Amino acid sequence: MRSLIVILLCVLSVPVTAQENRDDLTPLHIAYTTSVGDDKQTLRIDMSVDHIARPTVHLAMPDWTPGAYGIGRYGARVNGLTVTNGEGRALEVLPMDYKTWSVNTKGSKKIHATYTLKPGGRRGRRRTPAARAPAGEPTGLRLSGPSTYLYVVGSKHVPVSSRYEIPNGWKIANGLLPTGDPAVRHARDYDTLIDAPTTLGIFQEHTFEVAGTPFSCVFFSNDQQYDFDIAAFVDICKKIVKSQGDLYGSYPFPNYVFLFSLPGGGGLEHLNSTTIGLNPSGMKRDVRAGASVTSHEFFHTWNVKRIRPKVLGPFEYEHENYTGNLWVSEGWTSYFGDLTLARTGIISRQEYLSKIEGFIRVELNKEARKEHSVYWASRNVWHRNRADGLPRVDYYAKGELLGLAIDLKIRHETDNKKSLDDVMRFFNRWFAERGVGFEEGDVERACTSISNHDFGEFFARHVRGVLDPPLKECFAYAGVEYTENHLTASLPFSVRRRGADRRVMRIRDETSGEIRSGDVIKAIDGDGRFDTTTFLAKRTAGDEVTVTYVRDGKEGEAKVRLLERRTMIPSLRFIENPTDRQRQIREAWLTGND
Ligand SMILES: [Zn+2]
Repeated sequence: MRSLIVILLCVLSVPVTAQENRDDLTPLHIAYTTSVGDDKQTLRIDMSVDHIARPTVHLAMPDWTPGAYGIGRYGARVNGLTVTNGEGRALEVLPMDYKTWSVNTKGSKKIHATYTLKPGGRRGRRRTPAARAPAGEPTGLRLSGPSTYLYVVGSKHVPVSSRYEIPNGWKIANGLLPTGDPAVRHARDYDTLIDAPTTLGIFQEHTFEVAGTPFSCVFFSNDQQYDFDIAAFVDICKKIVKSQGDLYGSYPFPNYVFLFSLPGGGGLEHLNSTTIGLNPSGMKRDVRAGASVTSHEFFHTWNVKRIRPKVLGPFEYEHENYTGNLWVSEGWTSYFGDLTLARTGIISRQEYLSKIEGFIRVELNKEARKEHSVYWASRNVWHRNRADGLPRVDYYAKGELLGLAIDLKIRHETDNKKSLDDVMRFFNRWFAERGVGFEEGDVERACTSISNHDFGEFFARHVRGVLDPPLKECFAYAGVEYTENHLTASLPFSVRRRGADRRVMRIRDETSGEIRSGDVIKAIDGDGRFDTTTFLAKRTAGDEVTVTYVRDGKEGEAKVRLLERRTMIPSLRFIENPTDRQRQIREAWLTGND
């Protein structure tokens, strides 16, 4: 004790002198400039950081993109990083690892970093390159924030500005706040900056308002061909926006931008925007082809962007962020996404049931469901084995089925006075509007308290456990009959329908003979309009059938033997004479009205 006091006295007796490099608590001023190169494909990023009072500044790139749960190592894409001080003199830059650089400021209050981006680096589950421009003369490009912008370690919370230097005739579209300068946008912090994907180029823009809130639909195709009914599709977007806004009672943003691109597929959610890829031939056949993904991504505006598990914001970009609740954040988003289409009449009630039948058939025929719960599938997303190709439990589809079952059960238990709509509104008030995330057990607690029915057993069996959801019981509450039939024979390969094509995905057995993965199946036993389920219902294992296929543009024929394999075929049907209670639940469920 004595000696410690002596040491302390020695420390305290050091005379205080001026400290050149102390942090004086002045917030940094950070500004980015994104410049499109003369080739209209490459990007240069300039980043200026002012009001520095530190001997070193660490600059870093994120490792992943929120919403795409996979490590992307974007730091490996930063090319030719140089840093100068306020007078343009080069400063020493020391790489700390593949994503972090240490800059010796030498007392300078201002630094200026410049770099370009290497193409590629597509290691995340979703492809999120910094800029994507298709083949041909570029007429625009699309930017993803996490793989584009460096951040100052310790200062992600600071407001930033973003300037875009683009070729003549190009425009800027993103969800960031406009400023007096049309080339400059503002973001309240780094998270918000990189949450705003940006389309730079020549594009079509259609706008509408709902309840005084402006919405914009941007369509970008590099060949500038938009061969589908854009007005009809914008009308679909408007119906989705209105229905989901009605569910929550208001919109949590000042404006919203849908960034559609063609050709493409999938989508990614953001705070007040979304990127969605559309398939041109699918959209030409039926503009509703883009409705489900649009409805899903828009519902994310609440569910996951604001109603979020605690670990999903503020984001930690340098490592995986685990949650067992993606079956809610993604699965319930799919549930409400598809339900919105039925509620708005974008699809018929019969089409809605067919869609659900499809999910049941896929999910409840997977062997993996007997081992893996949706809770486990959610947590394990970062470590999915992408190579084995075997069907895994899908927290999107299985989560959608569980959302549906829970919704109908709440309606039944409360005499149709409460529903999953109320659970979402509760989450919105209690968590989203207070800006906080929810804990692992809050979903179960919310379902229990809204319904006054103990959901403990349901969650233990069907969420953390691996028992199939009680679909027959839950559908019956809404007067929907659920039946299961079984096929005993199967083709020795799996087939996926894409548009008009039926393509071989996976070979199940060597009895597939000549058939290879990727072949397009034209006919079975000479029937070009075959329906696999109907065909197999009349066959037994061991039967030999003739398959006509196309590979590399050439047609061929192969004899294959059917396998013994049990497949469950679900069937859903609205019963014709429902009870009053069933009718009330059905109407409230499929209209969203009480
Ligand atoms: Zn999603």
